[in-house]
Amino acid sequence: MSRLLVIGCGGVAGVAIHKCCQNSETFTELCIASRTKEKCDKLKSELEGKTSTVITTAKVDADNVEELVKLIEDYKPAAVLNVALPYQDLTIMEACLKCKVDYIDTANYEPEDTDDAEWRAIYEKRCKEKGFTAYFDYSWQWAYHEKFKEAGILALCGSGFDPGVTSVFTAYALKHYFDVIETIDILDCNGGDHGYPFATNFNPEINLREVSAMGSYWEDGHWVEVEPMSIKREYDFAQVGKKDMYLLHHEEIESLAKNIPGVKRIRFFMTFGQSYLTHMKCLENVGMLSTTPVNFNGQEIVPIQFLKELLPDPATLGERTVGKTNIGCIFTGIKDGKKKSIYIYNVCDHQECYREVGSQAISYTTGVPAMIGAALVADKKWDGEGVFTIEEFDPDPFMDMLNKYGLPWVVEENPVLVD
Ligand code: NDP
Repeated sequence: MSRLLVIGCGGVAGVAIHKCCQNSETFTELCIASRTKEKCDKLKSELEGKTSTVITTAKVDADNVEELVKLIEDYKPAAVLNVALPYQDLTIMEACLKCKVDYIDTANYEPEDTDDAEWRAIYEKRCKEKGFTAYFDYSWQWAYHEKFKEAGILALCGSGFDPGVTSVFTAYALKHYFDVIETIDILDCNGGDHGYPFATNFNPEINLREVSAMGSYWEDGHWVEVEPMSIKREYDFAQVGKKDMYLLHHEEIESLAKNIPGVKRIRFFMTFGQSYLTHMKCLENVGMLSTTPVNFNGQEIVPIQFLKELLPDPATLGERTVGKTNIGCIFTGIKDGKKKSIYIYNVCDHQECYREVGSQAISYTTGVPAMIGAALVADKKWDGEGVFTIEEFDPDPFMDMLNKYGLPWVVEENPVLVD
């Protein structure tokens, strides 16, 4: 019996909200609040009559802590689910702290303005100390740990698919299959085809920032950074087939390296088609991925934000995307003194997602775990005080809910390993 405040109303939020409405035992009431209220109202009208969850909507600028505090004080939710953008993580956390309300998100903090001098000084220090140059990292949110603890509230960070389910798979593997996990390879394969020469499956700005960044992996207690897309492997994915995949920096590597004792190496690979890579390189070469504003006809324009306006809205890709995703983790390690390897993965069909909730599989695979994380926090099945990443909780109830809410998983023994 809980009241949830959802912030953001894009592709991921659409799925998370559909799923909350399927779980109306937990979410008896829900408020959808975002920058563009019309989107919230539209979603509300689509869902009304199909769920017993009582839905309200609100307009909020999630960059503004005072507006958020007012909304939280008025609505009095049990928890706040942040499915806006990583840019808003800290303002929403700050508001939750002021109102003493639990917080859940799907992506770690990243600043919108990477030219901001104050942020840049901290970032450059971190690059030197930690050895990776991605714009996003957990330090900003982990810095809230003591404050959340003192306030007696919980922040659950990274409750999407990757990060999210991949970290839950890791906790589950450690609990049930290994004494020590030595290596983790996270493989994110999207075998879907939307028919456009170039489009991104989630927010273009966040997506292009992520994939154009330097690659990195964790090995023997430190980061190893490599040129973007310079490590390539081919893998034969169940129900998808052979795909090229590339090593990327990814945020769950940072928290898993901290929380999985004895792990020697963690890598993240994502599949990309040649057309995507060629377009991205070309856009990068001409400066379209830049986050630095340029003056055009007397108006300041941020190239990557302008590009976002030209690209298809990821929330509209569902109808035209066919094929499947296969996302999971290959673990190697030791059990009872013997070497062992397993692969835990989920296969998700784009068209089935569209038929169920009107979205493609990338939003679906993120929105379902966002709802599950919020439900476990709201029901107090996952409880705690402070800031935590998802692998720090008991994976079993989450794994059960994945099966129940549309993301069934498979455990394969002795899989083909990635060299
Ligand atoms: P979208 O761009 O589709 O949606 C973002 C939503 O946030 C929009 O409704 C937008 O409003 C709203 N928003 C943006 N800024 C503000 C603001 N200042 N105040 C209020 N609302 C705001 O993104 P996605 O749904 O694709 O992604 C949502 C989140 O999910 C992102 O953080 C992304 O990184 C994360 N993600 C995580 C994954 C995982 O597996 N962990 C995978 C994919 C995504 P408006 O409608 O006005 O634009």
